[in-house]
Amino acid sequence: MSDQLQYDATVIGGGLAGLSLSIQLANKGYAVALFEKEQYPFHKVCGEYISLESWGFIEGLGLPLSKMDLPIIKKLIVTSPNGNEFLHNLPLGGFGISRYLIDNELKKLAASIGVAIYENCKVEDVIYAANEFKLHTPKGDFTSKVCAGSFGKRSNLDIKWKRNFLGNRYNKLNNYVGVKYHIKANFADDTIALHNFSNGYCGISKIENNTYCLCYLTTAANLKKNNNSIAEMEKNILFKNKFLKNIFETSTMLFKAPVTISQISFTEKTQVQNHVLLCGDAAGMITPLCGNGMSIALHSSKLAAMTINDFLQNKITREGMEARYTTDWKLVFEKRLRAGRIMQRLFGRIWVTNIFISIMKKLPFFATPIIKQTYGQPF
Ligand SMILES: Cc1cc2nc3c(=O)[nH]c(=O)nc-3n(C[C@H](O)[C@H](O)[C@H](O)COP(=O)(O)OP(=O)(O)OC[C@H]3O[C@@H](n4cnc5c(N)ncnc54)[C@H](O)[C@@H]3O)c2cc1C
Repeated sequence: MSDQLQYDATVIGGGLAGLSLSIQLANKGYAVALFEKEQYPFHKVCGEYISLESWGFIEGLGLPLSKMDLPIIKKLIVTSPNGNEFLHNLPLGGFGISRYLIDNELKKLAASIGVAIYENCKVEDVIYAANEFKLHTPKGDFTSKVCAGSFGKRSNLDIKWKRNFLGNRYNKLNNYVGVKYHIKANFADDTIALHNFSNGYCGISKIENNTYCLCYLTTAANLKKNNNSIAEMEKNILFKNKFLKNIFETSTMLFKAPVTISQISFTEKTQVQNHVLLCGDAAGMITPLCGNGMSIALHSSKLAAMTINDFLQNKITREGMEARYTTDWKLVFEKRLRAGRIMQRLFGRIWVTNIFISIMKKLPFFATPIIKQTYGQPF
């Protein structure tokens, strides 16, 4: 094996978790390789609303968000299938940016500080032996002292490793489908809307270039009931919410076809598997209803970078690194993910959503503490 294929750290998956982890480790002087199965820039199913808790961290990585003319979002509208509407100021708020743009900007930043980026390169297997990792990829084999898995919601490696969350039978926390469009729409710049429908919800908020992201999550069963046709499902189910019908009928769709993803699961996951430290959705996924999966991905990369640094500096053992990362992760995120699972179980049933929105309208002071459950503090 040639020298250039040996690294201090290898990172599998170049979404927000993997890119930000690579940048932090490269900034500490380590030799880092990042593997991404797609080629940048590319679209991804995501609501593209990032909680402001991440703003300072992203700027600290070297991406000047304040110079990018991005929409700042401060208000929330929630609608119920029966046409009821609830408006509220967001306690912290967020900003809008497409994954097409932010992932690509971070990738360029990572490359500029020396991260070796292998695109179109799906990691097929990871073997840990004799205190090092060997990664098998179509571009050859690579070795490293540390390996991080930031491969998202569900990957070939989850299946290869037979991770526990795959074994769960269908329930209220798994087998979801995500659908995303970019649209030109007549909608407020500073507001995120969450429109509910039977067994799902759809978010709309502004991103860069005067464009909006329209993204929804629903059950695979909803799609199946509609002959696996997205258009049919939208017409028969989503359009029963009059706000959604209006958005779909009056907006200009910018993609020929929506970006989609299936088999999404919100069940619990492990944070370390086969000695690989897992970050972002690979370690646990919050329901989009509670937003902020991107902030969790970014924050988890910070926890991983600190622990990996201590290991590479010989301050802690591998065992110590794995234990500390798991403890830190649980301390920071476990409560938030649990709140997300509870809310996910409640939403979807039409009558529950209708009642919930009616109560919130009458008792709006309850909304702020509920929203606060869904985001963290700047890190
Ligand atoms: C419908 C929906 C709406 C959402 N809306 C929001 C929102 O508005 N705000 C928010 O904060 N969060 C939202 N989220 C959650 C958010 O998208 C995720 O939490 C976030 O993308 C996690 O980032 P990540 O880096 O862990 O994973 P990802 O961004 O998914 O990145 C994983 C990467 O790994 C690559 N990969 C996978 N396997 C391999 C392999 N074997 N080898 C190489 N590469 C591999 C993939 O191609 C991918 O690029 C939403 C999620 C869904 C489903």
